[in-house]
Amino acid sequence: MVELEKNKNISVHMDTLEQHPHCSHGPTILFSRGLDGKKFYSCAAYRDKKKCSFFLWENQSGEKYVQQFERDPIISKMIRFKLQSRLKFVKSLNQENRIYCHKCNELLPKSEKHLHLEHEDFLQENIDDFKLSRPSQLQFYQCNDFRWFNLFNCYILEECDTKEILVDLLSKEDSMAVLIDPPFGGRLEPIAYTMKKFDDIRLKHNKNFLTKFLILPYFMERYVKSCLPEMSMLDYKVDYSNHKKFNDTGRNKGSPIRLFTNANQSKIPLPSDENYHFCEECNRWVSGENNHCYQCGGCMSKNGRKYIHCNLCKKCVKCTWKHCKKCKKCCLPDHRCINDQIKTSSKNKRQGQNKKYKSSINLKSTMIKKNIYNEEIKRF
Ligand SMILES: [Zn+2]
Ligand SMILES: [Zn+2]
Ligand SMILES: [Zn+2]
Ligand SMILES: [Zn+2]
Ligand SMILES: [Zn+2]
Ligand SMILES: [Zn+2]
Repeated sequence: MVELEKNKNISVHMDTLEQHPHCSHGPTILFSRGLDGKKFYSCAAYRDKKKCSFFLWENQSGEKYVQQFERDPIISKMIRFKLQSRLKFVKSLNQENRIYCHKCNELLPKSEKHLHLEHEDFLQENIDDFKLSRPSQLQFYQCNDFRWFNLFNCYILEECDTKEILVDLLSKEDSMAVLIDPPFGGRLEPIAYTMKKFDDIRLKHNKNFLTKFLILPYFMERYVKSCLPEMSMLDYKVDYSNHKKFNDTGRNKGSPIRLFTNANQSKIPLPSDENYHFCEECNRWVSGENNHCYQCGGCMSKNGRKYIHCNLCKKCVKCTWKHCKKCKKCCLPDHRCINDQIKTSSKNKRQGQNKKYKSSINLKSTMIKKNIYNEEIKRF
């Protein structure tokens, strides 16, 4: 929970992004933390200080501090050059000698396999020409089709004019969609900023607003709606074929990952052979377990499992919950009642103990969320 709490206490300020000092990864982001709310600039691409050490208090932003971090676009340009020549080299080999490491996101010749011995589970061998040309499976694009773009500061991480390229790209088609699969620990305010910039460009060129799809866990729904109010959550459970935790095997509850969209949900049919059905009342597709509740006026399940309506709480709750008279709300049957919790915690304080109660199921579910969150931070 610590990370989440910490995350909550940090505010992000995007209003003046274009005037922020740059690090090698484009405009930095202005944060503030804690009670005094002192503002500071930090890298928009990396949280790891070893990868980018940029740090500047807001009132420190004089030339002399900024100069030492002057943007160095050559770095990313050279990375592209290196990768493109590697692609060319691996392409020239027979397919039996081509390997892709999903851990390092790297193409390699078989002769370098020994360097990735610890990544054995992540190695894909025998890459044929078809796979090499299928970017959604392995991701190799040329310059015209692919750009390293940082969604958190609306910046192309290459030696180019971000604005010009974005206008060129976004003003081409009458209808366009953007699919965003962000790290789950990332802030959504900067993503909302970038989406607004995209829509502004579209508007200026008389094009329709972008259709947006955003992939995040269902329990981030409130956060998504606070930053991107036009988005609603689809009931579709997203499985990652290459994600350690969110793949389609060995999970009885189904994936917690969902798609959020600003599109009209009635126009997005979900596969009926996977037990999704259309709810006439809600005018959208929902999962088989999600029954329409006439009291609440919607298909209320969020986690992909059955919900039941509680007349006392006047809302739908998880079907595994029972109404507790003491707590005056629906809870898991073996929960610790609020009053008992207060008693125990004051007793603990008296005894000078500060052990945390890991036995509580409520806490456990928070821990699971925290683990998912931490994993995503690591991935980021
Ligand atoms: Zn940076
Ligand atoms: Zn590797
Ligand atoms: Zn419904
Ligand atoms: Zn209900
Ligand atoms: Zn209840
Ligand atoms: Zn209770």
